[in-house]
Amino acid sequence: TLYLYQQDFIAKEQLAISPDDRGYYFGDGIYEVFRVYKGELFEADGHYRRLELSSADTRIPLPYSIPELHAKLLELIHLNRLREGTVYMQVTRGIAPRSHPYPAKAEPVLMAYCNELKRPLQTMQKGITAVTSADIRWLRCDLKTLNLLPNVMAKQQALDLGANEVVWHRDRVVTECSASNFMIVRNGEIWTHPANHLILHGITRDVVIRLAQKLHIQVHQAPFKIEEMMSADEAFVTGTTVEVTPVISVDGVYIGQGELGPVTRRLQQAFEEYVGI
Ligand code: PMP
Repeated sequence: TLYLYQQDFIAKEQLAISPDDRGYYFGDGIYEVFRVYKGELFEADGHYRRLELSSADTRIPLPYSIPELHAKLLELIHLNRLREGTVYMQVTRGIAPRSHPYPAKAEPVLMAYCNELKRPLQTMQKGITAVTSADIRWLRCDLKTLNLLPNVMAKQQALDLGANEVVWHRDRVVTECSASNFMIVRNGEIWTHPANHLILHGITRDVVIRLAQKLHIQVHQAPFKIEEMMSADEAFVTGTTVEVTPVISVDGVYIGQGELGPVTRRLQQAFEEYVGI
């Protein structure tokens, strides 16, 4: 497989990363994960907008323009003959001796690769289980940065408890999951945490909200608590790789009927129609 490194396509084995890369020392970098359907980048503009926000607020410059980046990523997909999968890309602040201040001279380092990945059709039917966990992250969860230790720890906590995911909460207000956004259905209406600094503004979340509105399903982008989640009719997560996946239980208690619910199913169908798959 070929990787994109700065401007060049090179084999993984040929790729050399400096130990002085600030991504390695500090997690000082930003990233995106794109979905590829039928050889095309899904919702590319949304990903680029989010990348530009992460870039602006961290002051990690992108090494080249968005149109150039887009052309490079399409070339990466093409060179690797990818039809269905993901593209991972990251930009670190660059290479400099370890020291906290932003280095004056560092050049940003861009790396991207793609992977084949099938749609999680079985999990989308069967659903996943979750456990609640305190959201101990910082207050800029809207930035997509490499500092994922809280996410990694939370995911492992879920697995250690025999569940698939965590549902994070701050003072019992549900925020999101370790690698996806979270929504509940109550009385035929959807509730999900507002897109502020406490959650990642998921591209899939955005698509699903738009599709729900088209289906005349009311969407409340408003805080809700664990209690409202536990007594919800349905719950589901949204994300680039998980699409729309039902959450059938939280902390060992079934949500609604404990199976893929009708509203979640309608959104899955609408999502498939929207993607054209
Ligand atoms: N929240 C978190 C913490 C995530 O890591 C992700 C996946 N990158 C999401 C939400 C979902 O975002 P998206 O729909 O853009 O994949």
